[in-house]
Amino acid sequence: MNLKDRYAVFGQPIAHSKSPLIHQIFAQQTGQSLDYEAHEVSAELFSSAAETFFAEGGKGLNCTVPLKELAWAFADCKTERARLGKAVNTLSVQADGSVLGDNTDGCGLVRDLLINHALMLTGARILILGAGGASRGIIAPLLEQSPRSIVIANRTVSKAIDLAGEFQDRGAIAGCGFNALNHSQFDLILNATSASLSGRLPPLEAGLLAENGVCYDLAYGDAPTAFVRWGRENHAFKSLDGLGMLVEQAAEAFYIWRGVHPETRPVIELLNFQRGENQP
Ligand code: NDP
Repeated sequence: MNLKDRYAVFGQPIAHSKSPLIHQIFAQQTGQSLDYEAHEVSAELFSSAAETFFAEGGKGLNCTVPLKELAWAFADCKTERARLGKAVNTLSVQADGSVLGDNTDGCGLVRDLLINHALMLTGARILILGAGGASRGIIAPLLEQSPRSIVIANRTVSKAIDLAGEFQDRGAIAGCGFNALNHSQFDLILNATSASLSGRLPPLEAGLLAENGVCYDLAYGDAPTAFVRWGRENHAFKSLDGLGMLVEQAAEAFYIWRGVHPETRPVIELLNFQRGENQP
């Protein structure tokens, strides 16, 4: 009989997920005994697979593409940040047996920017490219850092305007299309479109990035993404991808489940080393 607490990540595709390795290292670091597996689960099968997982004693689930909205609907109750993001990436069983939904993506991004890369968000002019699930999850944590402004630019303009409208009472935020960005400048440009995944870029003017500005692609890969390359070509002070965010959101999920904060830096260094970079 397996007496270890069981956790898993559900998603599709999932074969290349780094989450099992990340959580295995966190468990070793903190002396926790647990199993963490990756399971390929389609949107159609998510609800029954999650029910079976928890009925069989599973303690917690991470949910990734395309399941975050379904996980939001599945959760019996949600944290404030999950409610605002309308997406859940972390499910956990509570003492009374109910399932709590949380979203650690935004917190993971902000920690990566502030702590791992020592960037200042207070007073910054931030541009978010894309108005999908990932954008929705990062807006409130970014606004909590008191940036000067956030602009959301999206291919489908109405989605950017609607999304900005939802957060209007929390700070200076506006939505627009890419062609309305002419002559604007930003200190931080976050790519939260899925264009990078297919090697493409939203249409971006060369002058968008302020001097000493930073580019950050939420996507990541073994090679620099198209947006990371764009940042380098446009003389970004730093041009980063989302590997650090991945590790940080996992660390926050680990904390929710186990009550201990793992150390993220050695894990980021290991993953960077594995993809051939010596520096995080
Ligand atoms: P969604 O499918 O919800 O949203 C995709 C967004 O990308 C939409 O705004 C869409 O615009 C836009 N888009 C897609 N293709 C193009 C294109 N060719 N040109 C311009 N815009 C385009 O995806 P998510 O929000 O869930 O994910 C976005 C990215 O964030 C992914 O790369 C994902 O891997 C990454 N991510 C990384 C995490 C991490 O831990 N590092 C965590 C979560 C996400 P439109 O509305 O017009 O269709």
